Amino acid sequence: MKMQSTQLENSLLNSLSKKESSFTLGHSSNPSPIVVPGQTIGMLGGGQLGRMMILEGRRLGYRFVVLDPASDSPAGQVADEQIVGAYDSPMAIEQLMEKSDLVVYEFENIDPDTVRMIESIKPLPQGSDLLCWTGHRGQERKVLQDAQIPIASYQVVTSKAKLVEAIEQIKLPCVLKVLTGGYDGKGQWVISTLDDPFPPAEIIEKGILVEKFVPYVKEISVIVARGISGEMEVYPPVMNIHRNQILHMTISPAPIKEGIRERAEQIAYRLANQLQFVGVLAIEMFVLADGTILVNELSPSPHNSGHITMDTTNPCQFEQFMRAVTGLPLRKSVRKNTGIMVNLLGEHQEAFFEQFAKLPSCAKVHLYGKSVARVGRKMGHINFVGDSLSDLLELINEMSIWEPLSGQEWEAFVAIANIK
Ligand code: ADP
Ligand code: MG
Repeated sequence: MKMQSTQLENSLLNSLSKKESSFTLGHSSNPSPIVVPGQTIGMLGGGQLGRMMILEGRRLGYRFVVLDPASDSPAGQVADEQIVGAYDSPMAIEQLMEKSDLVVYEFENIDPDTVRMIESIKPLPQGSDLLCWTGHRGQERKVLQDAQIPIASYQVVTSKAKLVEAIEQIKLPCVLKVLTGGYDGKGQWVISTLDDPFPPAEIIEKGILVEKFVPYVKEISVIVARGISGEMEVYPPVMNIHRNQILHMTISPAPIKEGIRERAEQIAYRLANQLQFVGVLAIEMFVLADGTILVNELSPSPHNSGHITMDTTNPCQFEQFMRAVTGLPLRKSVRKNTGIMVNLLGEHQEAFFEQFAKLPSCAKVHLYGKSVARVGRKMGHINFVGDSLSDLLELINEMSIWEPLSGQEWEAFVAIANIK
């Protein structure tokens, strides 16, 4: 990957050496040029996040060109143009830059070297810094620790012997996580006893994060947008329920006590301020029974748990993202109603289509245009909006698309809650 990036860099720098960029990423004292409606935004990645960014960006009058290895990608379908090519193909990247006035990335598992190289030639307000370490769990923990953000105790090891030592120090139960490339719980092992299956040696040797298993009662997340001039907007915490480590449901606002909400938002402001990023950052947090908050994970782009803002909050996370990266002022986020987002995975598709025509009007459907449904693949989501979270939960529980909430999930909903 590294070598490919160097080749990519050389080739692009040669071909583009005469085209100088007038762009400098500025702060309030050195404002950046604003990309105006009518100009074209190039997008690295063609997934559903990109699709929803584009749908909002189009409302604001921007044009889009998407680079994705697959034709007919979710974002490509709604863009003005799609380039089909690999992210490390010099030809494809050159084409993307030729056609774009500004470039964004829509997902986090993209090679930071590619982003860095594009950034040296074209405006790329999100920058590559955040991406460098949110894509590496060890570096992410280090940045959080340096910023004095509370996290679970952890170590990074590269051998089985050191792994056992680390477990002895951190104490069971532990969670082992690959350093790069994991998502939706992939590349994770929960270790309750030393007899539990460990990752294979070749995976450990690449580096593995050993982390204390957190006995949380609730998972929440906070989304924060930060503009080019440093202005920030935080969305109040939402509660997340995962099934098989994939997000199943987001409840907005999170039923938590007022003091916990305030602390979670403070963590988000503090992080956003220290990281000086541009765009949207999602912060996943664990809340313990005594109200302690530990940060679990950061995501440097709009997040699945922010999809509920599309129907409950004005502006939604995708509009706020487009505003942040184009240099338009952020808008104060105003919540219109409460809501619950439920993901539609491949395995829910059949039951969903049976009910599609008769869904109540409080169910707002968002489909991603993916033609092949696989188990665990995110095909879309439904936002249920209304005045009472309990009523919405009851409605969702009665639908035969998803398994109703289990006793444990229901307990998580009511734990340390402030439900009206
Ligand atoms: P990803 O979302 O990238 O797959 P996460 O680190 O967020 O990775 O882990 C996925 C889920 O696994 C979390 O949302 C949480 O439910 C569970 N999990 C992860 N780390 C821990 C931990 N240290 N203790 C308890 N549960 C955890
Ligand atoms: Mg996560």
